[in-house]
Amino acid sequence: MRSKNLHANFKWSSWLFGRPGKSKVPVIFFYGNLLLWGYPTYFFKILPVLYNAFWEWHIIFALSNVLMWIFFLKASLMDPGFLPQDTEEYHYAVRQAINFNDWKNGKNPLGRLCHTCHLVKPLRSKHCCMTNRCVSYFDHYCPYIYNDVGQRNRAYFLGFLLTMCINCLFGIYLCWNWFQVEGQSLLIGLGCLFLIIIGFVSAVMTGMCLYMAAMNITTNERVNAKRYFYLMDKTGKFYNPFDRGLRLNLLEFVHLIPPLSFDKIRRRQISEI
Ligand SMILES: [Zn+2]
Repeated sequence: MRSKNLHANFKWSSWLFGRPGKSKVPVIFFYGNLLLWGYPTYFFKILPVLYNAFWEWHIIFALSNVLMWIFFLKASLMDPGFLPQDTEEYHYAVRQAINFNDWKNGKNPLGRLCHTCHLVKPLRSKHCCMTNRCVSYFDHYCPYIYNDVGQRNRAYFLGFLLTMCINCLFGIYLCWNWFQVEGQSLLIGLGCLFLIIIGFVSAVMTGMCLYMAAMNITTNERVNAKRYFYLMDKTGKFYNPFDRGLRLNLLEFVHLIPPLSFDKIRRRQISEI
C-alpha cells in the first residue's frame, strides 16, 4: 500500500516538475511569476493609476499579451517536426551495412542512422536527448517552452520571442510612468527590474533567431558546423548551401515557399564549391 502511494507521488511530481534532465522548473518559475505576480500587479496597481492617460497603450499591451500566449502555446504544445520512428529504410540500411565496401576507407554507412528512433536521419535533422526524438531541422531544445524548436514550430517560437520583447518594453514604459505619478515602490521596482532582464534576454534571442532565419541556418548547425560535412567547402571552411538570399530564406522560414530539395542542394554544393 505504501509503495503504491510512493509510486503515485512520484508520478505526480514528474507530471508537475518534469523528469530528471527535462525539468519544468524554468517554465513554472517564469510563467508562475507572470501569472501570480506580473499580471496582478498590472491590473491592481498600474492600470488604475495610468488608465486615463495611456488607454491606447493598454489596448496594444493587451493584444500583444494575447498574441504572446498564442505563440507560446503553439510553440510549446505542437509537434516541432518529430520524424517517424522504426522505419523500413533503417532496417534495410542495417542489413546492407555488412556488404558496404568502403569500411576500410574510413567511411561508415551507419553514421546517418539513429539507433534510438530506428531511422535514417535526413540532412539537417538531429536526435534530441531531451525529448528523445529525431527532429527535422532541429534548432535547439528550449526549457522555457518545454519543447524542441524545429521545422514546424520555429516561426511560432520567433513570434513568441518577438511579442515577449515588445511586452517587456511596454511594461518598462508603464512602470516608468507609474513612478512619475506615484513615486517609489519596491513592488513596482522589482517588477520593472524583472522586465528589464527578461526584455534584454528576449531581445538578444529575437535578434539571434532572426539572423538564423535570414541566413537559413539552424542554431545547432551554426554551433556545431564542424561536425557537418555539408557545411564545409573543400578547404574545410564554413559554407552554407541552404542560403537562397534574404527574401527567400525568410519566406522558407515561415513556410510560404518549400525548402530546396536535398538533390538540388547537393547540385549547388558541387557547382559552387
Ligand atoms: Zn533519433
